[in-house]
Amino acid sequence: MKKRIAITAAAAIFAAAALLYLYFTGEGEGAGIPCMFHQITGLYCSGCGSSRALRSILHFDFYQALRYNAIFTVGLPLLAAYFGALLVSYIRFGKDKISEKIPQWVIYFFIAIALIYGILRNIPAFSFLAPITL
Ligand SMILES: [Zn+2]
Repeated sequence: MKKRIAITAAAAIFAAAALLYLYFTGEGEGAGIPCMFHQITGLYCSGCGSSRALRSILHFDFYQALRYNAIFTVGLPLLAAYFGALLVSYIRFGKDKISEKIPQWVIYFFIAIALIYGILRNIPAFSFLAPITL
């Protein structure tokens, strides 16, 4: 139990350090974590703009966060709840009892949504989904 709490605390400290880094780094293009897919192909993946969106959320600028990456901004509460439940499950039971309770179709549904979002944001008619550049 102590080992699990120590690992969880280390993960929380790492996450807090990452959030602090994002909070204090600059804004705009090149401010976030670079995307290898975008650098190689020039196309936007589903995650492009996520670090800038998270930075905007940390500054309570939710409109800007939506403009950087809408799916990340909308999905963040779900992700946070999922990882929070995973941590609690890990501390209490030493293993992941959450993932096995989620039906597989739910996972496939979210993967499909992310893929569709990634495709749409590269089509000119849906350019409003692409991460804005400052
Ligand atoms: Zn990307």
